[in-house]
Amino acid sequence: MRGAVLYAPGDVRVEERDDPKITEPSDAIIRLSATCVCGSDLWPYRGIEAVDGPSPMGHEYAGIVQEVGSQVTSIKPGQFVVGSFFASDNTCEICQAGYQSSCINKQPVGAEGAQAESLRVPLADGTLVATPDLPADDLIPSLLAASDVLGTGWFGAVAAQAGPAKTVAVVGDGAVGLLAVLAASQLGAERIIAMSRHEPRQRLAREFGATDIVTERGDAGVARIKELTGGLGAHSVIEAVGTQESMLQAIRSTRPGGHVGYVGVAHGVELPGTELFFSHVHLHGGPAPVRRFLPELIDLIWNRQIDPGKVFDLSLPLEQAAEGYQAMDQRRAIKALLRP
Ligand SMILES: [Zn+2]
Repeated sequence: MRGAVLYAPGDVRVEERDDPKITEPSDAIIRLSATCVCGSDLWPYRGIEAVDGPSPMGHEYAGIVQEVGSQVTSIKPGQFVVGSFFASDNTCEICQAGYQSSCINKQPVGAEGAQAESLRVPLADGTLVATPDLPADDLIPSLLAASDVLGTGWFGAVAAQAGPAKTVAVVGDGAVGLLAVLAASQLGAERIIAMSRHEPRQRLAREFGATDIVTERGDAGVARIKELTGGLGAHSVIEAVGTQESMLQAIRSTRPGGHVGYVGVAHGVELPGTELFFSHVHLHGGPAPVRRFLPELIDLIWNRQIDPGKVFDLSLPLEQAAEGYQAMDQRRAIKALLRP
């Protein structure tokens, strides 16, 4: 099969790789209908995260089950399924509490690379969620978004306790930030402030439910959020970048007693203890337990109540994965969908 491999920063190649095989009786093999490039794939692509030799890339997937191991009971060949970047048993105490991305038996799905024609998914029964039927083609981008960016934005909004009568601010205008806007809107937030200085992204944020746009960042961005909230700060702030600047911007934009939901993968973030102590904000976040939200998200997409697939503003054949990385790296594209 064909699959994308990162050789070194800036060097993505699509090449012939071994077909995935069932290695554990709880595995499933999926033929991917669509896959994509994640904002977090840009960390190694940009050389900010070390690349240890050729690495298969990708961890977002949706497609049709080809084969299942002997222990798999709920997932069947022929079903269209969506899963998350961490495989989970969905039965342990941590999973039952809704934290499947910290499952005691969790396994990364990305290790073998989902930017490919086929993928092995471990713990298939606990990890995969089937759609009611084979989806119409135009639903596939949205179902793929549920695999990571929508689930991650949704977790950010839930962790920030977005909801009725709340003012929500979103730091970061990548796909996750934009879908956090959508999530906050679905959760009933009264006011949603998107922080973005890019016109096409501002437009999409408004389509997803943003009521205000703030173009300033850093201290000026914080001042602007305070100005819009009677000097208090937002009730709920979603951090969807993962840098020191964005994390402090999120904390400082939150009112005392408010909540920060942080879902940008942290790179070099160090929090000042004294400031945190006196801020009186709640912090909750981490790798999103996407599996918790998948049934609800698939349902919303299936019934065409949400259209998160709009974040894919570039669609390429898998063979052109390198162009997808480059377009996202240069911020020419919000998110690149790859068709195997
Ligand atoms: Zn578990």
